[in-house]
Amino acid sequence: MAKLANPQETIAVLQRYQFNFQKKYGQNFLIDPHVLDKIIDAAGIGPEDFVLEIGPGIGTMTQYLAEAARQVVAVEIDKNLIPILEDTLEEYSNVELINDDILKVDIRKLAEIYNAGQPIKVVANLPYYITTPIIMGLFETNVPLQSVTVMVQKEVADRMQTGPGTKDYGALSLAVQYYAEPYLVANVPPNCFMPRPAVGSAVIRLTRYETPPVEVKDPSFMFKLIRASFNQRRKTLQNGLHNSGELQLPKEKVAEALEKLGLPAAVRGEKLTLSEFARLADLLGE
Ligand code: SAM
Repeated sequence: MAKLANPQETIAVLQRYQFNFQKKYGQNFLIDPHVLDKIIDAAGIGPEDFVLEIGPGIGTMTQYLAEAARQVVAVEIDKNLIPILEDTLEEYSNVELINDDILKVDIRKLAEIYNAGQPIKVVANLPYYITTPIIMGLFETNVPLQSVTVMVQKEVADRMQTGPGTKDYGALSLAVQYYAEPYLVANVPPNCFMPRPAVGSAVIRLTRYETPPVEVKDPSFMFKLIRASFNQRRKTLQNGLHNSGELQLPKEKVAEALEKLGLPAAVRGEKLTLSEFARLADLLGE
């Protein structure tokens, strides 16, 4: 089977199987070999590696992964793609296909079976409608993880790597940066996909920290504070944390903690760094 990463081969496969794109599954297949080379390179896939691919589509990226890695497991939700994948990946004995929703798959078990429970690499051109649940699911559950190299919407990549004081800064930035070091690999225009997505895309690599960059006694309380702060972005932190149904913190307590941190009483959540949120959580959690 020829490499799929070009418009001619992709169209030929789609026609042979009379495949209809399912918009609800975020199907935009890669057709540019340079982008695929960049992804494999940035993910640092070597012959010892086990790779989990989310959403293989017709197998375009899977072919590259299979050539670079020891073992690939690819999880695809669309059952209509399975016979196509069995065909396009026929010559690779190191690829296992799973027809399921990635949000329901026990990834920890896959790491145990295929990688002796050691940290795994995840590589994907993600379906954009569930980017955040997929990424947060990987980090927040106890999946042994080395890195996540993924194609996402450009705007989401911006949110993942930005710091305080920008419009893109929010709960996703802080969550990602607590667990991983983000690195923007490449911006990718719509014409590298079939069909073309309506938005720009980017490849981002998130390398999981062995220990998070900040210490906090109760990370889940810190994330509650972060969510409450950004739910009411235009409000001061004091009001945001006071009004939040989940927290209902007394204003005086928040004011006292802000003073201890040397922050202005009217500060907004969007101005706080990750380490300031960590210290605030330790003060308010007492
Ligand atoms: N990897 C292929 C490529 O780069 O050409 C396809 C990428 S396409 C953007 C996203 C793929 O994820 C589609 O094949 C889609 O069917 C699949 N997908 C969507 N939701 C999924 C889910 N919940 N679990 C697993 N796969 C999913």
